[in-house]
Amino acid sequence: MNMNRRGFIKTSIAGAVGAALYGSHALAAHHGGKKRVVVVGGGIGGATTAKYIKKYDPSIDVTLIEPNPHYYTCFMSNEVLGGHRQMDSIRFDYEGLKKKGIRVVQDTVTDIDAAGQIVRTASGKTYQYDRCVVSPGVDFKYEAIPGYSKAVAESSIPHAWKAGPQTEMLRKQLEAMPDGGTFVMVPPPNPFRCPPGPYERVSQIASYFKEHKPNCKIVILDPKNKFSKFGLFMDGWKRHYGYGTDKSMITWIPADKGGKVIKIDPDTKTVHAEAGTFKADVLNIIPPQKAGAIAFKTGLTKGDWCPVDHMTFESTLKKNIHVVGDSSIASPLPKSGYAANSEAKICAAAIVSLLNGKKMPEPSWVNTCYSIIAPGDGISVAMVYAYENGKIIKVKGSGGLTGKYDPELRKREEMYAHSWFNNITADVFG
Ligand SMILES: Cc1cc2nc3c(=O)[nH]c(=O)nc-3n(C[C@H](O)[C@H](O)[C@H](O)COP(=O)(O)OP(=O)(O)OC[C@H]3O[C@@H](n4cnc5c(N)ncnc54)[C@H](O)[C@@H]3O)c2cc1C
Repeated sequence: MNMNRRGFIKTSIAGAVGAALYGSHALAAHHGGKKRVVVVGGGIGGATTAKYIKKYDPSIDVTLIEPNPHYYTCFMSNEVLGGHRQMDSIRFDYEGLKKKGIRVVQDTVTDIDAAGQIVRTASGKTYQYDRCVVSPGVDFKYEAIPGYSKAVAESSIPHAWKAGPQTEMLRKQLEAMPDGGTFVMVPPPNPFRCPPGPYERVSQIASYFKEHKPNCKIVILDPKNKFSKFGLFMDGWKRHYGYGTDKSMITWIPADKGGKVIKIDPDTKTVHAEAGTFKADVLNIIPPQKAGAIAFKTGLTKGDWCPVDHMTFESTLKKNIHVVGDSSIASPLPKSGYAANSEAKICAAAIVSLLNGKKMPEPSWVNTCYSIIAPGDGISVAMVYAYENGKIIKVKGSGGLTGKYDPELRKREEMYAHSWFNNITADVFG
């Protein structure tokens, strides 16, 4: 699939929904007082929902509550770790959303009273809503790995699975690592945010080692036997990093070869796995994941994640609250930024329709996940999704994986990855 076709899919979906809703705007203006939507979380899902509700119906009063003044995208944070870009390039603010008339509040939501339709924040403020949107991203099950904890993650063994200070810490540790040292990564079990992300991270770090510290080694202790874009990563690791030979920079130990971790000793950065004991110079543990804490507090979760109606993203457990992004159960859509952005537009369309007493337009979603295996070698997986019998389904014959190795195509895939990054961040925050 080429860039034009991807761009077209994205524009046409947003356009189709938008066209159906602009017609309803006139109706909203006749509804007595202003309708109020409160969005919890100014990440990819939350910021996109806020922006598109305002775009589809400017008469709606939209408040976005987010604790941080800036948002660092996780996407392209692996390039920061690989030394191919700086933190500044993945930092975004909320000025663009404010200019569009969205009230952006810097605060943390501590409680949502679903019955009273009130959001409460750490600073003691309350916000009444007609509809609330919750997009708090993921939280971590630190306790699943004995020896690991939030305090350890923040002080010495970063997960860096939320971009920000931990990304910078991990990058500094990699820079300080001696040539000949060992980097150990522990990826999470399914389901987790960004299925190809750990393997893209390994590729990026390997590209840094290859250029600057060619005697370094990477060990992956994986609780899984397979992962996203498996064949493409394996092929790339063979071509760039000697994978499968005696000189391989990367050793991947899957679950059935003892990859499962039993415990860690954080002081010595030693990992005890079923396959044996591994001493790391730099250790990166990405713990198992679950919905963001506020989703649990509000009673939006069943198990680890939030069940939602696939047409509107309204919680099936709490009325008038919608959940988008990583916290929601939207499978077969992956937990990705592109999917969160796509879900958010559908959720915005649903909310504008519901608040205006209109029928929801037929939804459709799209996702593409790019990974850069080495400079000039990009790969991707893409899919289009539709709504059928109350569920999100994959559209047969849509999307697909990058084909056989062709250096020109791979360079173009890298270019598409960077242009996707520029487009999505402009779409979310611009
Ligand atoms: C290394 C890495 C690489 C990735 N690469 C890609 C990629 O190439 N392509 C792709 O599509 N996806 C990628 N992703 C995944 C993508 O980043 C996530 O899927 C996406 O950010 C999910 O959006 P979200 O809105 O659910 O969560 P987030 O974007 O994490 O936003 C959640 C927001 O909620 C806020 N929040 C949480 N609790 C509260 C509260 N109580 N009150 C107020 N605010 C709160 C947080 O501060 C945060 O800003 C990657 C992820 C990682 C880790």
